[in-house]
Amino acid sequence: SPGLYIVAGPIGNLSDLSPRAAEILRDADVIAVEDSRVSARLLRHAGSDRPMVPYHDHSDERVRARLVERMAGEAVALLSDAGTPLISDPGYKLVRDARAAGRMVTSLPGPCAAIAAITLSGLPSDRFLFMGFLPSKTKARSDTLDEIRAVRATLVFYESGPRCAAALGDMQAVLGDRPAALCREISKTFEEVLTGSLSELAAACAAREPRGEIVLVVGPPGERPPPDEAEIEAALRDALARLP
Ligand code: SAM
Repeated sequence: SPGLYIVAGPIGNLSDLSPRAAEILRDADVIAVEDSRVSARLLRHAGSDRPMVPYHDHSDERVRARLVERMAGEAVALLSDAGTPLISDPGYKLVRDARAAGRMVTSLPGPCAAIAAITLSGLPSDRFLFMGFLPSKTKARSDTLDEIRAVRATLVFYESGPRCAAALGDMQAVLGDRPAALCREISKTFEEVLTGSLSELAAACAAREPRGEIVLVVGPPGERPPPDEAEIEAALRDALARLP
């Protein structure tokens, strides 16, 4: 039926494409993609010969309007170079406009590097904050980290190999030396997970730049710092006041 199909693709291992996702890729009238060379490989794997159109959220408004128009009578699939569309990838504005126009919107869920990394990290998974890519310059990166310093959740970042050592160093400086995990090449031949404190991981990355695609997972802040004198005094006063 007509509408928008948000299709999650693999994050490295083609076999992770779900049968339902492959079916939509074969049946869609058009497939909106980031990079047609990257997606051509997946379409071949899925046995799809459907036409592709390039789409980015910063594409011309008319490109998006045209796609939303087509969804009235055609099945439009949205596919990213890797993993789940919209997650540090294009698509948010397309979904927003499709909804505003009353089109059918559905998701074919699947691989996502952030979710896979959380499950691999050994860090608390009950609450997490996905931060996507941090700014590349130290000042802007430290400012962003400072904004989330007190958030009581596991933090998840996408990062590139050459920036890892500097990013981990800034994290240690701003967030304190928390436990962390560097998850690399998930679902690929050289999948690897390094765990340790932020300072240990920063040193490891400085000694040898990690290759491939990387997700950094950082544990929540430690328990509340011990109360200061004023807090103890207030608690004592409170307790005394309650005595019968
Ligand atoms: N939409 C994708 C998803 O669902 O994960 C993310 C797209 S984002 C542009 C690409 C980043 O995701 C990479 O720079 C890397 O940080 C992370 N990533 C993608 N594939 C990965 C993999 N196989 N292993 C580790 N990280 C990966």
